[in-house]
Amino acid sequence: MKHSRTLLTAFLLALALFFALSSGKIYEKTVFSFAETKTVYLTFDDGPSDRVTPLVLDVLKKEKVPATFFLVGAQMEEREDLVKRIYAEGHAIGIHTYTHEYRKIYASAESLLTDIERTRRKIESLTGISPTIYRFPGGSFSVREELKKAVKKAGYTYIDWNCCCRDEELARPTAKELYEATVKTAEGKNQVVLLCHDSTTHRATAEALPSIISYFRDRGFVFAKLS
Ligand SMILES: [Zn+2]
Repeated sequence: MKHSRTLLTAFLLALALFFALSSGKIYEKTVFSFAETKTVYLTFDDGPSDRVTPLVLDVLKKEKVPATFFLVGAQMEEREDLVKRIYAEGHAIGIHTYTHEYRKIYASAESLLTDIERTRRKIESLTGISPTIYRFPGGSFSVREELKKAVKKAGYTYIDWNCCCRDEELARPTAKELYEATVKTAEGKNQVVLLCHDSTTHRATAEALPSIISYFRDRGFVFAKLS
């Protein structure tokens, strides 16, 4: 089995070389498709929650897949053990917000940075790490430039998404609907940042996760966490 796979790889490389020699254009294209590692970053916002985060962590553990959790400060207060578990199981932790109250946090650069700092300190007190990755509540898409600049100046890297299971948009979605939304929004992308939520109403997200992981795995994607 291993031997035949080696032969197949050798054959494909020989084919690439043939195209390389016969046409410069095709060569570029071939090398590009061989060189680019398909990568998927599973990201979970708005947690931790008692109902859903443990289910998500169980699936990730079983599948041996890393993920990134953008945590909410207020949610962490009563769930310190869950934050420690996320960290202990090797996942990345990012800052989302303390309150998730748009009107408050987006009022000014100062209030946004206060919210971020409060969240950062909570994460640091529980895990010892001081995250520099940040996700704007609602994404950076409609956030004012001055706020984006302030976040960058404070040393944070903000990360949006280019793929979504739509668990926040669909009303009472089934696991199948979340899987289908993921497949649809991931189409044609080799670098996927998937947005999911592990807040309390999203049990279906945890249920959809095994099929979502299989989908990317079957297509040769590598699972990675953000940093
Ligand atoms: Zn959020």
